[in-house]
Amino acid sequence: MEQTILIVDDQYGIRVLLQEVLEKEGYTIFQAPNGHIALEIVKKEKPSLVLLDMKIPGMDGLEILRHVRNLVPDIKVIMMTAYGELDLIKEATELGALAHFTKPFDIDELRSCVNHHVRALPDSVDQSA
Ligand SMILES: [Mg+2]
Repeated sequence: MEQTILIVDDQYGIRVLLQEVLEKEGYTIFQAPNGHIALEIVKKEKPSLVLLDMKIPGMDGLEILRHVRNLVPDIKVIMMTAYGELDLIKEATELGALAHFTKPFDIDELRSCVNHHVRALPDSVDQSA
């Protein structure tokens, strides 16, 4: 089954980096720079996993997370946060976020975490064959 991932971040550079890395893993990627576009994509595409920035102008990460989980209750969400956002991280965890990565994060760790949660396979499985 084709696995789809939605990247939500207001920073273009982060979206592009994550898209490039995760496409190499074989995922179909959607991106959104804000909450409104993110929710449209969630409704339409029902992605397997959402990588969600906490600090986004307008609707913030927590608000997006609430809406996303209302739309697709079992959707998997990994948060991307800034240093010191402990209260927000706690709230996101209570809302069912699986993990969080503090920016600047290690891209290999993030990739492993995504693979782990989407595929439920060991991180070392080679998909390149
Ligand atoms: Mg941001």
